[in-house]
Amino acid sequence: MRKTYRELLRDPRWQRKRLEVLQRADWACEECDDDSSNLQIHHHWYENGRDPWDYPDSAISCLCEDCHETATILLRSIPRLELNLDALHRLVDFAIELKEEQDAHRKLADEFAPRRRLDELLAKAASGEITYEEKIELSNRLRLKNKIAPLIERVKT
Ligand SMILES: [Zn+2]
Repeated sequence: MRKTYRELLRDPRWQRKRLEVLQRADWACEECDDDSSNLQIHHHWYENGRDPWDYPDSAISCLCEDCHETATILLRSIPRLELNLDALHRLVDFAIELKEEQDAHRKLADEFAPRRRLDELLAKAASGEITYEEKIELSNRLRLKNKIAPLIERVKT
């Protein structure tokens, strides 16, 4: 039967590794330099079935109790963080799709609804009583109409 993690931590190989890490850290927290608190050994990552001493030095830190607690919480939150990022990406994709759909609808609505405004502007242009702003508006509306006319034809058929 496989040893429990608690049993593995009593293994002389772990005792030696632990001592090496403490000596490397000069018996102080490698995060905040605290040398008066209880020091603990922290694994930056875990692999199932791997013995606690069988990790590269870079994967192990000597930390005070407070820093160890913070590091452990951060380590545990990583999978949840990835999940949330994934959900966020899906949400952004959905928002973009929604925006594109709304834009398409608005273009169609512009084509169908403001025909009266377009007629109004054309009448003003014909009578010569058109302001500069209205000229720009007319030009934009005509350009938009030309651009989406094929789209509307496609929707109708
Ligand atoms: Zn610390």
